[in-house]
Amino acid sequence: MSTAVKNAVAPTFAVIVKLNRSDELEDGLCYEEAIAVAKILEKCHVDGIEISCGMIGRKVGAPNRVIRTIEEEGYNFKAASDIASQLHIPVFVVGGFRRFVDIESRLQSSKIAVISLGRHLICEPDLPKKWMADHTYESQCKSCNQCFLTNPLECRMNH
Ligand code: SF4
Repeated sequence: MSTAVKNAVAPTFAVIVKLNRSDELEDGLCYEEAIAVAKILEKCHVDGIEISCGMIGRKVGAPNRVIRTIEEEGYNFKAASDIASQLHIPVFVVGGFRRFVDIESRLQSSKIAVISLGRHLICEPDLPKKWMADHTYESQCKSCNQCFLTNPLECRMNH
């Protein structure tokens, strides 16, 4: 399918696939399968892969993703780094990155090409601006997923 997508767009159009490192479901995609899929996608000439995790209703291991400590930040990073070390295309990673200095250091110490922000920009759309003004500023997003229940999408945390 990714080959068909590549063939349907201009050569300058980047096709980046979001891939779970694990669905965290009983019969869902597991880590070993994710690595195999990533290698197939590379062979299909996708331009990059973004590593994420989990599905609605996840059960396996089901960690509560609310981030309370530094150790809980960047919970997909280790798996994404491992996958990146086995590929030649850019690997992105998303999930619980809260601090600019942490992101900088992870980018320098791994083969990860891009660290993505999702909910953190729902929480604070001007987060990049805040980080540019103060590298020590910490995102206020706690990855609690309460915004998934909103329509239109908005952060439910009181800042
Ligand atoms: S509700 Fe707000 S704090 Fe919670 S995950 Fe969504 S954006 Fe982040």
